[in-house]
Amino acid sequence: MGQILVFVESSKGALKRSSIELLQAAAQSGETVAALAVGSAADALVKEIGANGGQEIHLIKDASLDSYNPELFAAALTPVIEKVGPHTLLASASSLGRDLFPRIAARLKTGLASDCTELSLQGGQVSARRPMYSGKCFASAEFENSPVKIVLMRANQLPVKAADPSKTGTVTEHALTKPDLKTLIKEVVKGTSEKLDLTEANIIVAGGRGLKEAGNFKLLQDLADALGATVGASRAVVDAGWVSHSMQVGQTGKTVAPTLYIAVGVSGAIQHLAGMSGSKVIVAINNDANAPIFQKATYGIVGDLFDVVPKLTEEFRKVLHH
Ligand SMILES: Cc1cc2nc3c(=O)[nH]c(=O)nc-3n(C[C@H](O)[C@H](O)[C@H](O)COP(=O)(O)OP(=O)(O)OC[C@H]3O[C@@H](n4cnc5c(N)ncnc54)[C@H](O)[C@@H]3O)c2cc1C
Repeated sequence: MGQILVFVESSKGALKRSSIELLQAAAQSGETVAALAVGSAADALVKEIGANGGQEIHLIKDASLDSYNPELFAAALTPVIEKVGPHTLLASASSLGRDLFPRIAARLKTGLASDCTELSLQGGQVSARRPMYSGKCFASAEFENSPVKIVLMRANQLPVKAADPSKTGTVTEHALTKPDLKTLIKEVVKGTSEKLDLTEANIIVAGGRGLKEAGNFKLLQDLADALGATVGASRAVVDAGWVSHSMQVGQTGKTVAPTLYIAVGVSGAIQHLAGMSGSKVIVAINNDANAPIFQKATYGIVGDLFDVVPKLTEEFRKVLHH
């Protein structure tokens, strides 16, 4: 029986949903599930990792791994992965994962499938499916000559069930051998938003040029607050300087796959669809019945967003907050 290693990411002392998805998928395969967590607060994750299926928990508890430095992370993780010796390594296709794991794959001289949306783990065989050309087609990926098969999964693609707190894992700590670094992270300055990152959000309300001006994003923020959602945007409004680039969804922005995506005053250009067509339920609000977004929408409301959005906000407040 082989071993699957899951690299976990956390936020505010708790596992990210994307990491829970991977742990549970690995646990379902029936193989031994190992997990790797890094940083000075890695200890705090042990219980949650165990409860989600992690049996062998590896920690590198070094404060220098609290913020991401590609050079340091690649040097720190590679020897631990070699020591643990999994046949498969799962990590999330987050900004960190997409930057880090190609470096590690190169060091390990092994194959990597990035940005995957489907995963199959059976008897040591791994296959994954990933969108190509902005989602116009899909590729099935299998591995050859790969001592460790590295798969990076998009968030919100795999089911999550309740954790089982009676399950625990054994903990092994690894020392960090610091390499001579060419770069140092001196400070990480966070953006102003305290909201959940778009790629992790379960509900997204996205606005486009139909909102007419920056100040009208307040309407979307109100709707998002009523729903517990995160606000996203089309590139047109990012380019216009109405909102920050961190909110952009699409080919040159973020790829998201929430349970619910509400597109407000967004036309549905192919480059926008590339970032959100994996959403489970898509609701479009647009006053042009021929807008392309309606081709992708599960539900469409043809109407003036300035009428529709405040009414929706009011109704959601009534239904969800009573
Ligand atoms: C290389 C490249 C990369 C790109 N990457 C991205 C990307 O990552 N993300 C992205 O989003 N775009 C991207 N684009 C841009 C993309 O092609 C579109 O230009 C952009 O998505 C359009 O934004 P929009 O839908 O907000 O604006 P528009 O296309 O102008 O649409 C506005 C919509 O609002 C509707 N509307 C107007 N008034 C109202 C009202 N009162 N009530 C209801 N609806 C109303 C209109 O009917 C219209 O459908 C990229 C383009 C290129 C060339």
